[in-house]
Amino acid sequence: MSDIAALAAALDGIETSADRALLRLKSRDFYWYSPILKKQLDGKSAELIARPKDEAEVLRILGACRAARVPVTVRGGGTGNYGQCVPLQGGVLLDMTAMAAPLSIADGVVEVECGAKMIDLDLWCRDRGWELKLWPSTKRTATIGGFVAGGGAGVGGIAHGTLRERGNLLGARIATMQDPPRILDLEGDEAAPVNRTYGTTGVMTRIRLPLTPAQDWRDVAIAFPDFVPASRFALALAFADGIPKKMCAVFDSQLPPFFKGIAEAVPAGHALVLAMVAPSALRALRDLAREHGGMVVAEQDTVAAERDGDATPFYEYCWNHTTLQVLKRDRGVTYLQCRFPFEDTLKAVEAVRIPFGDEVWMHTECVRFGGRTTMTALPVVRWTTPERLYEIIAAFEAQGIAIANPHVLTIEEGSNYRRVPGDQLGFKRMADPLGLLNPGKMRDFTIEDAAA
Ligand SMILES: Cc1cc2nc3c(=O)[nH]c(=O)nc-3n(C[C@H](O)[C@H](O)[C@H](O)COP(=O)(O)OP(=O)(O)OC[C@H]3O[C@@H](n4cnc5c(N)ncnc54)[C@H](O)[C@@H]3O)c2cc1C
Repeated sequence: MSDIAALAAALDGIETSADRALLRLKSRDFYWYSPILKKQLDGKSAELIARPKDEAEVLRILGACRAARVPVTVRGGGTGNYGQCVPLQGGVLLDMTAMAAPLSIADGVVEVECGAKMIDLDLWCRDRGWELKLWPSTKRTATIGGFVAGGGAGVGGIAHGTLRERGNLLGARIATMQDPPRILDLEGDEAAPVNRTYGTTGVMTRIRLPLTPAQDWRDVAIAFPDFVPASRFALALAFADGIPKKMCAVFDSQLPPFFKGIAEAVPAGHALVLAMVAPSALRALRDLAREHGGMVVAEQDTVAAERDGDATPFYEYCWNHTTLQVLKRDRGVTYLQCRFPFEDTLKAVEAVRIPFGDEVWMHTECVRFGGRTTMTALPVVRWTTPERLYEIIAAFEAQGIAIANPHVLTIEEGSNYRRVPGDQLGFKRMADPLGLLNPGKMRDFTIEDAAA
């Protein structure tokens, strides 16, 4: 009997599958956005899928894998962008989607099993008068465990920063790969080592998050004759303390034609701002738009749109959905992730938007970092060669723009300004001494570490 067959037998009673088609499907995420990662990761696959329904089953799976020295790669919704849940060394794919129950809500804190889809979690909180502070544009497909372990920025960032900010992740329960595997309950700063570490430092089973009172958000689309006034407006909105808001994104004129559903409303050659504001702020938003030469061209109820499978909430044109909207019609592009300086933000945006012409289509998002507001960007980049991509990255960095490179596999190489502070390596040595959790994704953890 092969190791994997023996492992499957040892997991008797737990949902497992070795179906080849399912293995191929579940061993992928959205790494193919990057032609560089596509080349490296195509064909990588787990050998067995295990889908636990509770913590006891998670511990049994980890125990059996540890005993057999089989790697374990955790998977939520599989929407990660950097091959985060692609198993580099085969082994078991731990599918967390059966552990999806909201557990409690009190005093603005929700505790939830980490395989919950974020849309389900948010609607559950909303029915109780609360909503999530942050969500990715993949809210309708991603899990909360995947967002904490692999994402961390998105809608809500204009008001609350990112998951990196102390207080935006309150705690996590994790299962370790120790001998024997055990459950740890991490509170406050203790949870930092599992925040955006790609499932290399433990398997999250439960997460505790702070909430904010629910709002009936409105999606608003505002067209501008040019990118510069659109950006000035966006920053003015970001700094407008009287306007409650959840999102504000700016798109250069090449991008709106790819946004099926609102493209027709945007006059040709115009830049576009997509914002989410509270209903009480609609008049103030219109006044601000008029002051900057903008014209409201579309408006909808965000929550009604996200509840409707046929509708598109505007956040699904934003964040990394922008790249997807273009890729649906043009496979010749890729993207970058960057953060502009806090001072002279627009000067830096223009310094990289203008010179690249049709090679870089600018898309920015207003967001707070450490209490300061700036713009991040996920520009769409015309793909030619790796060398050219790295020239573009260097040109951005020369302007003082930080790049979180989405074309690399490891936490250390890719995270930059998105890295969560804390001793992630030290924590991994304790929680996963054999290096079996998502091997290859934490660069600084070496074979010697595993042998020590
Ligand atoms: C179209 C598109 C738009 C996106 N927009 C955003 C955005 O706005 N903001 C953003 O931050 N990201 C964004 N992303 C990236 C991705 O969607 C997010 O990271 C998302 O939150 C991942 O959730 P998931 O459940 O799909 O995670 P997966 O892809 O399944 O996993 C992501 C990582 O987390 C690990 N993991 C998953 N569950 C657990 C667990 N329970 N315990 C430990 N580790 C775990 C996995 O091993 C993997 O390393 C986008 C991606 C796409 C394709």
